[in-house]
Amino acid sequence: MNKSYVSLGSNMGDRVGMLREAIRLLKKHPAIDVLKISSLYETDPVGFTEQDAFMNMVVYLQTNLSAFKLLEICQDIERKLDRKREIRWGPRTIDLDILLYNQDVLETENLVIPHPRMHERAFVLVPLLELDPGQDFVEPQREGIEIWKTYNSVESFLLEE
Ligand code: ATP
Ligand code: MG
Ligand code: MG
Repeated sequence: MNKSYVSLGSNMGDRVGMLREAIRLLKKHPAIDVLKISSLYETDPVGFTEQDAFMNMVVYLQTNLSAFKLLEICQDIERKLDRKREIRWGPRTIDLDILLYNQDVLETENLVIPHPRMHERAFVLVPLLELDPGQDFVEPQREGIEIWKTYNSVESFLLEE
């Protein structure tokens, strides 16, 4: 089984609903097991700062799919949830990025793993370290990153509403 961490973020519309639906769709895939979710974090936008706050989280999953196939599925989910690519790093209904896939290091045109910008992003590192405190990263600044809600299990998050 391959082990992967995927980050999710939304800052348009029903942000929590978008994250929930994305995780539902991941979980529905017969070859993907979503085993753990971080808390939901409300985070200040970085890069392009003239936009609404984000809701971010990280999920831990196992899959027998390749990293490339997993990326395809993440992109299918983005399309399903009406992701548009307008401004780079701008407002979006949903973004799914593969952070880690096993210990693999991969650099192709369409897929880079570990995610190339994760180490500079507290909104990614904070939830990732929550899920796996053993990860060997420089402790991120927590400024602008607030826990919004913590769930006991994937199911309890999906069952809400
Ligand atoms: P960032 O990558 O800085 O977080 P973004 O998530 O907004 O920005 P997207 O528009 O979602 O960027 O994706 C741009 C491209 O990044 C995708 O078409 C995809 O092929 C590529 N990509 C490369 N590595 C990854 C990865 N590890 N996870 C997701 N997409 C990746
Ligand atoms: Mg991204
Ligand atoms: Mg992305």
